[in-house]
Amino acid sequence: MTKNMEEMINHLKAQGFVFQGSEIYGGLANSWDYGPLGAEVKAKLKAEWWNYFVKKNPMNIGLDSSIILNPKVWKASGHIDGFNDPLIDCKKCGSRWRADKLIEEFDETVIAGAMTDLEMEAYIKEHQIKCAKCGESNFTNIRKFALMFKTNQGVLEDESSTVFLRPETAQGIFINFKNSQRALRKKLPFGIGQIGKSFRNEITPGNFIFRTREFEQMELEFFYNPNDGENWFEYWIDKVETFLTHKLYMNKEYYRIRKHEADELAHYSTQTSDIEFKFPFGWGELWGIADRGNFDLNAHQAASGEELTYLDPQTNQKVLPHVIEPSVGVERMMLAIMWQAYTVEQLEGDNSRIVMKLPYTLVPYHVAVMPLQKQLNEPAKQLFEKLLETFDATYDETGNVGKRYRRQDAIGTPFVITYDFDSLEDHKVTIRERDSMLQERIEISKIEEYLKQKF
Ligand code: ATP
Repeated sequence: MTKNMEEMINHLKAQGFVFQGSEIYGGLANSWDYGPLGAEVKAKLKAEWWNYFVKKNPMNIGLDSSIILNPKVWKASGHIDGFNDPLIDCKKCGSRWRADKLIEEFDETVIAGAMTDLEMEAYIKEHQIKCAKCGESNFTNIRKFALMFKTNQGVLEDESSTVFLRPETAQGIFINFKNSQRALRKKLPFGIGQIGKSFRNEITPGNFIFRTREFEQMELEFFYNPNDGENWFEYWIDKVETFLTHKLYMNKEYYRIRKHEADELAHYSTQTSDIEFKFPFGWGELWGIADRGNFDLNAHQAASGEELTYLDPQTNQKVLPHVIEPSVGVERMMLAIMWQAYTVEQLEGDNSRIVMKLPYTLVPYHVAVMPLQKQLNEPAKQLFEKLLETFDATYDETGNVGKRYRRQDAIGTPFVITYDFDSLEDHKVTIRERDSMLQERIEISKIEEYLKQKF
């Protein structure tokens, strides 16, 4: 059956995955809170990433740096002068747009990021692109809009106390490159991974959790010697793809890899590829993999006066490492995962069900236990408590069995165990699988073994 994003959002809200931010006060534009189940999925997603890119990769290590950094970091990185969006206002209704997005929505084949402001203005005029709100085609010139959130540190609110909320976690890694390398005695090549909040005062947030002003990133900065003869860029594209397909079970029809054209590259990058996902509103960037060269270390070395080179023990020569950066947003990935998982299924007769076909690695609960009748609550509860020691388990004793199955389908629980009257005699229970809805009867003493094989 077809699915649509509005219905999925309603489903996620009703089931406790995502809530509107500040809802009882009428909300706060484009902010979302993660409910009890969404928080579980998010935590598991981050753990999967951390395991794959940090803990289980012997080359890499992790870091947890501050959100507020010395403003000199953002000067050196180019964010204070260059991190802005081209903003354009409709003269008739006053609504505000990103010029590049207006153009790309008008013609998907155009890459507006490669145009200058003047070229974008000319393109909008020439093609009479209309304001999506009022339909008029009469815009102001482009103005630059700084994306970093500013605040003040300490009691004084003057220039000298201005600090920024980080717009990416990457710079926290670059400024700790030398500390981490020295402390852990790391040899090139090695990566430093970090998961954390980033903030961007986006002009056009929206599409649910696709673009928000507060979000989390999972970033790896992989440092290598440019003379080592390896193609680390392709290596990390492969790794990212394997993570998507083998850890998150992403379906190939949902994503594609797009290499940036030379004139589309950010100033710091020599090559970039995006993993794009087929979101309900069209293809969009999910994961960016950029070759940043030594742009960042070079900038910080020059601005701080600290030497950030690495002494190659084999050649005894100093090198300023180059960097490959795979960077992905947690919430954007959540949207991709939820959209792939959200399934509306027609069953026999007029029945239908909504199933969250989440990968087993990310489900809020592995297993639900339910007693068939009230009189069986006690032994069912005991089984639930036993399973809770090893699995993420939940217990449900309210409503008829059919309803309870639907409830677990709706939140993606892969296995539901029903404790019935026969269980008292034959010490067996019925276990039902989420996607196939097949049921089998297995001995209570073998359940743990059975579930362990599945997860
Ligand atoms: P976009 O072109 O969509 O604004 P970007 O190219 O600016 O994205 P990067 O700076 O490369 O994004 O950030 C890396 C990743 O962080 C993106 O691939 C995306 O998954 C995530 N991300 C960036 N901005 C946002 C945002 N405002 N909300 C949610 N996730 C974001």
